[in-house]
This record gives sequence, C-alpha cells and structure tokens, in this order.
Amino acid sequence: MLRIGGITPYSATDYPGCFAAVIFCQGCPWRCAYCHNPHLLSASAPPSIAWEEVTQFLGRRQGLLDAVVFSGGEPTLQAGLGDAARAVRALGFKVGLHTAAMYPDRLRELLPLFDWVGMDVKAPFADYPQVTGVPGSGAKALTSARMILDSGAEYELRTTVHSALLSLDALAAMAHELAALGVQRYVLQEFRQLGCRERLPPTQPNYLDCDEVERLGRQFSEFLVRRA
Ligand code: SF4
Repeated sequence: MLRIGGITPYSATDYPGCFAAVIFCQGCPWRCAYCHNPHLLSASAPPSIAWEEVTQFLGRRQGLLDAVVFSGGEPTLQAGLGDAARAVRALGFKVGLHTAAMYPDRLRELLPLFDWVGMDVKAPFADYPQVTGVPGSGAKALTSARMILDSGAEYELRTTVHSALLSLDALAAMAHELAALGVQRYVLQEFRQLGCRERLPPTQPNYLDCDEVERLGRQFSEFLVRRA
C-alpha cells in the first residue's frame, strides 16, 4: 500500500498537542542539502516495514496514541497515501501530514483526509531551486501553501535555517511573502548537522537570536524558533 522506510512509535513533537506515531514514507524527488533522511530519498528502495505490520502496531496503540503522522521523504509522492490515511482514521487516530507540498494537484485531493498539515517552506519562493536543486519547485510550493491556507485545515508552516543557505535578508523576504499570503502560524527551525545529506559548513551560532528575526516574527499571530 505504502512504501515505508521507518516508523517512530512515539513522538511528542511531530503533531502539536498530540502524542503521535510517525510513519516515514519512502521517496522524494528534491535534494535539499540539509535533508536529514537521505536513506528515504530513493523512491525505488525496498520498504523496510510492510504496511500490514504498521496497521498491526497501530492496532496495539489504540487508546495510547492520539495521532499518526505521515512524514518522509515526501508522503504525497505515493498514490497509496490517501487509502493509508483513511485506514489510520478508521483505527480512531487523528491524521497528520509532513510535506514539502511539491504536488499541489495531489495535495488538493488529500487535504480533506488530514487533521493537521506541517508544510516545509524552503526559501523565498523565487529562490527555491537554491535549496531544492529543482527548477520550478517554488511555484509548486506557493500554489500548495495557498491551498492549505484556503482549506481551513490546521497547519504549521516552517523553515529549516542554515546561515549559508538563507541570509537574514532572505528570511525577512520569505516571512514577508508568507505574512502577505495570510499565514498565521510560522516556525523557524535551527539546522541540525546530525544525519545531514551533505557536509555543510557550520551554521553561524545563535544565527536566529537577533533583532531581524524578532521583527519578522511579529507579522504572525503564532511564531516560534524551534531549537536544534
Ligand atoms: S523535501 Fe524533505 S525529504 Fe525531500 S530532500 Fe528536501 S528535506 Fe529531504
């Protein structure tokens, strides 16, 4: 049903306010230098866990977990995501999605199946290829971001920040773009080296502890710097 590269049986940080299991879906066509799950990027890698094992595990967690989050890789890459989300809901869990939102047409069909969506925003939309390595990626992400906001779904938009990949000016421009779209909940996440796909130079220490970040955060009703 789904090609699954791994599962985290218990997390208090992947779905706001919920204890959740996280299912890591195999495959992603983008190549962000800071990707923490390079083993999940190949769409043709054999699954490490069968879907049936996952549903059996979740059956044993009914009443103990609030939610199940589909993460990746890129979950919306796989045609089986919708049926998997329905199966999880039928077991009585809330259903969450972590996505880079690169397939707006699929996302349109999938959004009604999810209670909460965490969308990664990589850069100012015009500068996306500098992070993803894929021409045109920003236009797709922008379409998806609008769709999430229009859907009325619970959401969080968040950006992983490495000082060599996103200048403070770029961060300010991105925050301005998002605020203009009507984004209310926005998170900046400090870059973590552990498990990173490429060897990047060290990010500047305390890069996000500055007046510029405090100012850009004031544009959102909910704003947070998530520490590494
Ligand atoms: S979109 Fe996500 S999974 Fe894909 S390469 Fe970027 S960080 Fe990794």
